[in-house]
Amino acid sequence: MRDFVYTALPARVIFGSGTLGQVADEIRRLRCQRALVLSTPQQRTAAETLAASLGSLCVGVFADAAMHTPVEVTERALAALRERAADCTVALGGGSTTGLGKAIALRTDLPQIVVPTTYAGSEATPILGETEAGRKTTQRSMKVLPETIVYDVDLTMTLPAALSAASGVNAIAHAVEALYAQDGNPVTSELAEQGISALARALPRIVKDPGDRDARSDALFGAWACGTCLGAVGMALHHKLCHTLGGSFDLPHAETHTIVLPHAVAYNAPAAPEAMRRIARALGVADAAQGLFDFARSLGLATALADIGMPKNGLDRAADLAVANPYWNPRPIERAGVRALLVDAFHGRRPQLQP
Ligand code: NAD
Repeated sequence: MRDFVYTALPARVIFGSGTLGQVADEIRRLRCQRALVLSTPQQRTAAETLAASLGSLCVGVFADAAMHTPVEVTERALAALRERAADCTVALGGGSTTGLGKAIALRTDLPQIVVPTTYAGSEATPILGETEAGRKTTQRSMKVLPETIVYDVDLTMTLPAALSAASGVNAIAHAVEALYAQDGNPVTSELAEQGISALARALPRIVKDPGDRDARSDALFGAWACGTCLGAVGMALHHKLCHTLGGSFDLPHAETHTIVLPHAVAYNAPAAPEAMRRIARALGVADAAQGLFDFARSLGLATALADIGMPKNGLDRAADLAVANPYWNPRPIERAGVRALLVDAFHGRRPQLQP
């Protein structure tokens, strides 16, 4: 028997095709009538189309969302929000746009509707990462958990194959760490396995044919499942490393996750045999770490930190940062082991089978 505590997070999830058409009803359901639509500059056209379809329920578009939620952008968005007396936000986009909606909710308590268009999973979490003066900080607060998620498979059809693959493996990383989380529980673990297997099935098909609607639907479901795991339990070494590498060396978010994941899993494997069995089962492979490495490679993703801008002379600093603040991990964090893991990830070596 294993004791556990499980806290369900409140969220309304609408999943389907053409569901963007339900955003107006969802705004009214929240008793709001003046939505500000958020997006990145790249998705401005989609945001403007949504704004037009909302008619008088929408008071404008703010299309300057950026990676890692810079506070300076949030302040400009807040000014736009006040100027138009908006009473809720609709974030249309990936984790960057969702992050802006959350940063606004943290400061205003306004309700959020999120319409995700990548597989990052942020929409299902009470976590917000922000950057100010080049420093990234992360916090958990129920204030930032979106009230409503509208998943519309149609919007993911334009996500390029490479971005889909990297974003999908980023989602898998949430479920992987949920399987060996300190506060893991049977509900989250079931969802984690479902999320990993949905993405493992879907991503190879999407890379082959980005227009494969069934695979897109499977992947978006997997993203929700994995994001829910991230929101429900604590993360460990892998997320800490990616946070450090992204923040200190300005590496791209999803790609960093795809490269580090097999090595973080190999490091933790001896201390988390049950999680390894479940990850391998969900992927349909014999070994979790090698399976994750082979999976990323089969999708055509980068497998070496050296190839995405990591400086070789940064490995020591990265190892120092990763061991600096103590945090829970199934295997104790030792600098030598973490440095060796980073060296393997730097060169893109296939993880060795654990004895
Ligand atoms: P992103 O939101 O930065 O999107 C990447 C690019 O793809 C953007 O230019 C975007 O406009 C474009 N794009 C998105 N969807 C598209 C589509 N369907 N078609 C065409 N183009 C599209 O990338 P991301 O990986 O989704 O998010 C990364 C950010 O999310 C990071 O800042 C990360 O820290 C954060 N994140 C936070 C959490 C959390 O729980 N707080 C979880 C995961 C990620």
